[in-house]
Amino acid sequence: MLDADFFRRWLTATAASVEREAERLTALDSPIGDADHGSNLRRGFAAVTAVLEKEAPDTPGAVLVLAGRQLISTVGGASGPLYGTLLRRTGKALGEAAEVSEARFAEALRAGVDAVMTLGGAAPGDKTMIDSLVPAVDALTESFVAARAAAEEGALATVPLQARKGRASYLGERSIGHQDPGATSAALLIAALATAAEASEAADA
Ligand code: ADP
Ligand code: MG
Repeated sequence: MLDADFFRRWLTATAASVEREAERLTALDSPIGDADHGSNLRRGFAAVTAVLEKEAPDTPGAVLVLAGRQLISTVGGASGPLYGTLLRRTGKALGEAAEVSEARFAEALRAGVDAVMTLGGAAPGDKTMIDSLVPAVDALTESFVAARAAAEEGALATVPLQARKGRASYLGERSIGHQDPGATSAALLIAALATAAEASEAADA
């Protein structure tokens, strides 16, 4: 079962990998965007870590709703409201349970990804974060490790695509041949699930 601590660890692990990879995310956002994706997410996830420490919400749903709200209010770019909606909607779907099963989390995350698609209007193949989130959610019924592999594969698969949503779509065919920054950061978010789970196993051993 996954408790509030697990979800706090998930977001803290995401913040750490965003911090580590911020320059790469910004570099990916430079040929097909405005070179701010790394700094946007670094600021957003640092604020998430800080607010979770301060308020220490005690259910999985409350952790995710608070984190989502924080991303929406601190990230200026398109990705802030989109990631914020992902976490907020996932948190709402988890309700007030003190612990949730992995299967229930997988369902909730699917509701979160659906909300991102509704908000941003992107579908799979449009060269956005959706291209790593959708395969990740599909693989999540199997395991966190499978979801991580699926998200990484989804991010790599954005290279030959032409962007149809977001800033990169203004480039038309010139967006082809570059990896999407948002699909890349979404793969970091999903990879952090496996990191958080490994930390729980180590603590239980
Ligand atoms: P901005 O484009 O405002 O500078 P960021 O650079 O932080 O914002 O984020 C860019 C990323 O956001 C893109 O790489 C893409 O994955 C994602 N994105 C942009 N628009 C959409 C959308 N409509 N739906 C889903 N994801 C989107
Ligand atoms: Mg940008």
